[in-house]
Amino acid sequence: MSRIVGIDLGTTNSLVAFVDEKTGLPRVVPDREGHTLLPSIVAFTPDGVLVGDAARRQLVRHPERTVYSVKRLMGRGYEDVNDELCYFPYKVLPCEGIVKIDLGDRAVTPPEVSAIILRALRERAEAYLGEPVEKAVVTVPAYFNDSQRQATKDAGRIAGLDVVRIVNEPTAASLAYGLHRLKEGVIAVYDLGGGTFDISLLRVEAGVFEVLATNGNTRLGGDDFDRAIVLWLLDDIRDRHGAYLGRDAEAMQELRLAAEAAKIRLSSDERTTLTIPFEAFTYHQEITRADVEGLIARLVEGTLGPCRMALADAGLAPADVDEVVLVGGSTRVPLVRRRVQEVFGRPAHSQLSADEVVALGAAVQAHILAGGITDMLLLDVTPLSLGIETLGGIVSVLIPRNTTIPTSAREMFTTSVDGQVVVDMHVVQGERELARDCRSLARFELRGIDPMPAGMPKIEVVFLIDANGILQVAAKELRTGKAASIEVKPTYGLSEADVERMVEDSFAYAEADVEARLLIEARNEADTVMTHVERALRQSGELAPADEREAIRQALEELRQARSGTDRDLIHERTTALNRATEHLAEVMMDAALKDALGSKRAAEILASRGES
Ligand code: AMP
Repeated sequence: MSRIVGIDLGTTNSLVAFVDEKTGLPRVVPDREGHTLLPSIVAFTPDGVLVGDAARRQLVRHPERTVYSVKRLMGRGYEDVNDELCYFPYKVLPCEGIVKIDLGDRAVTPPEVSAIILRALRERAEAYLGEPVEKAVVTVPAYFNDSQRQATKDAGRIAGLDVVRIVNEPTAASLAYGLHRLKEGVIAVYDLGGGTFDISLLRVEAGVFEVLATNGNTRLGGDDFDRAIVLWLLDDIRDRHGAYLGRDAEAMQELRLAAEAAKIRLSSDERTTLTIPFEAFTYHQEITRADVEGLIARLVEGTLGPCRMALADAGLAPADVDEVVLVGGSTRVPLVRRRVQEVFGRPAHSQLSADEVVALGAAVQAHILAGGITDMLLLDVTPLSLGIETLGGIVSVLIPRNTTIPTSAREMFTTSVDGQVVVDMHVVQGERELARDCRSLARFELRGIDPMPAGMPKIEVVFLIDANGILQVAAKELRTGKAASIEVKPTYGLSEADVERMVEDSFAYAEADVEARLLIEARNEADTVMTHVERALRQSGELAPADEREAIRQALEELRQARSGTDRDLIHERTTALNRATEHLAEVMMDAALKDALGSKRAAEILASRGES
C-alpha cells in the first residue's frame, strides 16, 4: 500500500498529516523544531525563495515580494479580486483570465506559489516518514468553484504531488471528528479560517458520512477581521498623529501584524494595548474586546445567512442538528462562538485542535483511499449549480447545487445550420439566472460532427462532476454513434502547457531554492553567534587577556566578511572558528558567574540579570 498524506493548504497556515499504522489514528507531521503549522507565506528574496516562518520574517522588510493569503487568488480572474487588491502589499496583474503576482524581475501564478508551500510540506513529510511522498489528499473550502479546485490540483502537480482527491475542508473535519467520537446523527461543521468561510451539514450513519448541504463565502475570514481593525487604526492614527499611513506598504504590514496579534489576544483578554513604533512616532492605544466586536459584527453576521441557507437546502431545522463542530482559527473569537450558538441553539464542540482538525481529516480520507480504512465512506456534494448558457444568456441548470458527487447530467444538442460540423457552448457555475452573473467555467467546441441538415444530428453531451468536484465532459453523436471531440477552453486557469512548463521550472528552481535556504540559515546562525560574542566582549571582555580579545575580534571580523559573501561553507567554517576563539572567555564568564552566585547573590538573580543582557 503506497502512502497517501493529507494536506490542509490553508490561507494562513498549512499542515500535512498521515495515519499512523500502529494506532490507526491520524497525526500531524512536525518540522525539525516540532512546529506543526507552516505559515502559508512565500518570500521571493534576492537570495532565493523562503517559505513559512522564514518568509514571515520578510513581511515587513520586503512586503512587495512576500506573498501571503495566496489562497484568495487561486483560480480567480482579475475582476474577481480587483476590489481586494488594495489590501495586498504585493502587485497583482491580470494575465489571460487568471492573475499573476508581479515580483519585479518575474511574475508567478497563484498555483506556483501554492506549489512552493506544498513542496515544503512534502519535504517535511518525507524527512519525518523517511520515505518518498508522491500522493496527497488536499483540502479546499467546500465553497470553492471548479476553477479554484482545478488551480489547487495544478499546484499539486507543479509540486510533484499527485493530488488523488480534493476534499472539502468541513467534510474532512467531520471525518476527523467521526473517527474521534464515533457519534451518529446530523453534524454542522462551521469553518471560519483566515480567508474563507464554509458551513456544511452532514449525516453520519453506520460509517457513512453524507454531506447534506454546504454553503459559504470564499472571501470571508479572519483576514477581514484584521482589515476592519487596521482601517480603524488608520483613522485613529490620523486623528492623533496627523499621519495617514494607508499608502505606506511597510507601515501597513506593521499595522496588519499588530491588528492580528491584538485580535488574537482579545479572544482570551477583555482589553489589550497596541504599541507600534514608527519612524516619526510611537503609536500607543488600548483597545477592548467590545471595540473589536463592534468592528467585526457585520462580518460575523455575514456567516449566518449561509448557515440558514444550508439548513433550508438540507430541509432541516436548527433543532435537527445534533452537534455543532467549530473549525478554523477564527472560531476562537468569542463573538463568533456566541452567534453560532444562538443560530443552532446549542454550544459548539471544539475538542480537536481547530488548527489541525482539517489536516487530520484529510489524512483519514487519504487512508480510506489507500485502502487502510474500509468501514468509512464519504459522500460529498457539489457546492454550486452547474449549467449551460442558452438563448438570451439564460442559464439552464444541469446539476443543482448540493447534489451528491460524483454525479452526471446529460444534455442533447443539435445544429442550427445545414452542414454544420462544429457546435459551441458555454458552461457556467453559480446560482444566478443569467450566465453573465455566474462564473464562466469553460467554453466547449464540439467538433467532427458529420455534415447533415440542420436539426438532424443528435449530440449527447455528458457532464460529469468527479469526486473532486471538478467537471469533466464527454460527447457523442447518437445517429452515427461517432464520438464528437471536445475542446475545452477553461475560462480561468492554467493550460496544460502552462502546468508542464511550471513543473519544469520548479525542478530548475528547486535546487537553487535549497541552496538559498541553506545560505540564509548559515547567515542567521552567524548573526546569532556574532551578536552573542559582541555582547560578551562588551560586558565581560576584561576577563580575557588582551591577546585573546584581539584574536576574538579578528575572528569576528573574518566572519563578518564571510557573511556578506555567498560562500556558505566559509560562513560555517568561520562561525565555528569564532565559537572556538571564545571558548575560554565563555568558561571564565561562567566561572565568574558561579563565584558571584556562591559569594552572596541568589542564582535566580544571576540568571535574571543574564537573561536581561
Ligand atoms: P486558519 O485558516 O484556520 O489557520 O485560521 C487562521 C485565522 O485564524 C487567522 O485569521 C488568524 O488570525 C485567526 N486566529 C488564529 N488564532 C486565533 C485566536 N486565538 N483568536 C482569533 N483569531 C485567531
